[in-house]
Amino acid sequence: MIVVLKNGVSKARQDQLIEWFKSMDLGVHVSVGESSTVLGLIGDTTKVDLELVESLDIVDSAKRVSERFKRCNRKFHPEDTVVEVGDVKIGAGNFAMIAGPCSVESEEQIITVARAVKASGAQILRGGAFKPRTSPYDFQGLGGEGIKLLLAAKKDTGLPIVTEIMSAADLPLFEEVDILQVGARNMQNFDLLKELGTIDKPILLKRGLANTLQELLMSAEYIMASGNERVILCERGIRTYSDYTRNTLDLAAVPMLHELTHLPVIVDPSHATGIARLVPPMSLAAAAAGADGLIIEVHNDPMHALCDGAQSLRPEEFDALARKVTAVREALK
Ligand code: PEP
Ligand code: MN
Repeated sequence: MIVVLKNGVSKARQDQLIEWFKSMDLGVHVSVGESSTVLGLIGDTTKVDLELVESLDIVDSAKRVSERFKRCNRKFHPEDTVVEVGDVKIGAGNFAMIAGPCSVESEEQIITVARAVKASGAQILRGGAFKPRTSPYDFQGLGGEGIKLLLAAKKDTGLPIVTEIMSAADLPLFEEVDILQVGARNMQNFDLLKELGTIDKPILLKRGLANTLQELLMSAEYIMASGNERVILCERGIRTYSDYTRNTLDLAAVPMLHELTHLPVIVDPSHATGIARLVPPMSLAAAAAGADGLIIEVHNDPMHALCDGAQSLRPEEFDALARKVTAVREALK
């Protein structure tokens, strides 16, 4: 249930109402917006008398929320959430360009790519250290050593870093990582999500290969229900019957998610298409659809990449793309 308070309600009256809801064993999520304050009630609200709540002089309106996701629901929090990472803001019109290789391979590789993407305007560096590979015989990532190299690139360029965590047991290695990524394959690893809900770092949550938007939002809800509200959603393509692309980029997910949730939504055109030459057009389409950012794979030598070379842009291709993305965003204003 959401309860919208009238403007100018005193703190004392507001607290009294919140206490009353809490006495009914409900959680109360308070969202203070510019124009109104919204109380989101979490738990079994069947015992709350809607008409009685509506009749209170400090209440503007109240209604039941049918969706099972509450904390990430836009009805609970009408204004866009802005996730901040150092000086970088994501959401509510703040667009983040995230770029870097699929996997960290060496100090030279990650620093070369980090410098290049920074020069082209990227604000966050990506790079996988723990890699979820389909085959156990493929390169599995450099693990903790990869994180050290990412930190060296962060030190060199000043770019915050995002990298994937596959197991909560690895958390101590992620202490200096700025954003923790939950990959598509772990979107419904509920134990991992609960654990990430207890830390104070933004989480980049990628949509599972065959998951609905509602399932994505329920996964975000897991993180938020455990106390971490800094969640960024990522559409990265889903399995359909596409034959020439790695996945199908569900771009309608961007405006739909913006209706359903206040969380920022970014797009990964690299994993969505699997083909470098398709990354620029889909990036521009994502920007035009209102995405809050892009995460793009860039490699200094795609032909020799240890992972996902076919979908990786060369630094000069990323540079050209970054300019076009800026132009599309200007055109939308
Ligand atoms: C990645 O971003 O490195 C990755 C493995 O992506 P996804 O989880 O979307 O497949
Ligand atoms: Mn990849």
